Parts: sequence; structure tokens; C-alpha cells
Amino acid sequence: MMPKKIVFGDNAAKEFNYPKNSLIITTTTHEIYGKWLEYMGITNYEIYDKVTPDPAIEAVEAIKKEYEGKNISAYIGLGGGSSMDVCKYLGKLTGIPKILIPTTFGTGAEMTTYAVISFEHRKKLLQDEAFLADAAIVDPYFLPGTPFNIMRNTACDAASQASEGYDSKLANPLTKLFCREAFEILEDAIVNDKPNLLPYGAMLSGIGFGNSSTTLGHALSYVFSNEGVPHGYALSSCTTVAHKFNRSIYYERFKRICQKLKFEPLKLKQPLDQAADVIMPDRGHLDNNPIPVTKQDIIKCLSEIVNGNPLE
Ligand SMILES: [Zn+2]
Repeated sequence: MMPKKIVFGDNAAKEFNYPKNSLIITTTTHEIYGKWLEYMGITNYEIYDKVTPDPAIEAVEAIKKEYEGKNISAYIGLGGGSSMDVCKYLGKLTGIPKILIPTTFGTGAEMTTYAVISFEHRKKLLQDEAFLADAAIVDPYFLPGTPFNIMRNTACDAASQASEGYDSKLANPLTKLFCREAFEILEDAIVNDKPNLLPYGAMLSGIGFGNSSTTLGHALSYVFSNEGVPHGYALSSCTTVAHKFNRSIYYERFKRICQKLKFEPLKLKQPLDQAADVIMPDRGHLDNNPIPVTKQDIIKCLSEIVNGNPLE
């Protein structure tokens, strides 16, 4: 599965024919998105700019209510993962088409059937065919404004998703083709300082892992996320250790990417045994891991992450 329409490349967002009376949903400030909208040449639109990171279901329902009866023709998710996730969920609720335009590149969210929405202050990873974009627009125009720290986190996420997606039990020759190609491009982009290749690599990664799921690395990472560590940063050590455990063909190459991005070792406040209890029920990721994982394995992996430096 992938979006009905994918528009990629220089000027893709500029040349797209946006439907009249679209509702643009973004997380950024007017100062930033004003320039984006000017570039896109979009006129005749509504804008909702109060989306916060890690959006909650209440926020989605509030937007739905605010624009009810206003004949919105399409939702346009413009920004990082949060704006796109809100659009995906809104589209599922109302059936209104959605156009997703990432401005940071790495999650590949514009390509996938996944959305992360919080319910009662808990982030939930949801999957639904109804979350698929009607159109995804990937335009490297947005790349130069991305701060280094966000860029390295999203680049690491993309490389992690491509390599975990390749190893997943749900992978098939077609998803492996996308994941393999994505990893090659992302590796070249990061190791050889060619950031302009990141959008394409992240896009291919989204198509690949979006149809095969991520595995142990992502499962391990959420206990760090719960303590406030950014997703991509958490994956640097977690996916490295997971690749070592799985004897992945990507172990050394993924580690080299993380070294190049200069990620620091991770710390965990909660005891490892307790963290393992949080990770074990995450069957969505663990059941797709190429090798069965026990609680003891999880504790061993966590210990490698926090008691040593897996990136050395
Ligand atoms: Zn991820």
C-alpha cells in the first residue's frame, strides 16, 4: 500500500494543483509557514496552526468540530509527523481527502498507514488503511531550514526504519527492494555529507517499512521516548544493539551512520527489569522481529545500551 499519488522532486509543492478551500494543518509559526505557503502558491484556504507535538485525540476532535459545515475539500498536513498524523486521523473520521507534505524528512509518515495519536496521555501507534494519503508531496525545498539536531534525528529514524523493515518477518521481496535502496541512499547522504539525498531516501524507507513494520530496535526505543528522549536519538543505540542481536547485515553500516551523526550514549531512569516489562507487551514490533525475543534478551539489550557505549 502507498498513497494514490506521489509527487516528488524540486518544485513538487510549488507546481501541485491544490483544491480550493483546503484546510492546512501545521505545527509551526506564521513566520515559517507564511514563506512555505507563498512558495506553494496556494490561495483560497483555511489554516489551523495550533497543532502541538504528540497530538491527542481531543485535539483531532476539536478540529473536526471547528470546521464542520465549512465544506473543506481536502486536508493538507504541512510539517513534521504531528501535522501529518492529525490529518490522517481527521481523514479517517470525515472521509475528506488528505494531502501530506513533510517539511522534515525521516519518518516517511507521508507514505504509511501508521499514525501516532495520544489517548489519555499515552502515545498509541495506530495502523489503518484509511490513514493513507490521497497525495504525498515530497519536495526538498523544505530541507535547508531544518535545524541540524532535527535533521540528524530524522535521518537516523529513516535509516533505522529501512534496516529494521528489511529484517522484519513481514518483509517480502518488494518491501526489501524499497528498504535496501532506501538504506543505500540514506547511508550515502549521511556518511558522505549529501543531505539533499535525504528526502528521497526517507520516502523510499516509508514505502518499504510502511508495508513490513519495524522490529526490536523500535520496541526498545519507546522506554527511552517515554523519558523524553527524541525518537531518532533513542534509535541510534537501540537499533544498533537490536541489529547486533539479530545478526543483521546492517549492523556495522547502521553503527557507522550513528557514529557519523555523533550520537551520545543513552541513559535510562527506570530499572532495566521494569523497562523490559513495558517492552514485552509490544507484540506489534516484537512478533515481527526475525529472531524470537525473551524478557532476558530485552534486559541484556538494554544493559548493553545503558551500561556501555554500543556506538563505540
Ligand atoms: Zn521510527
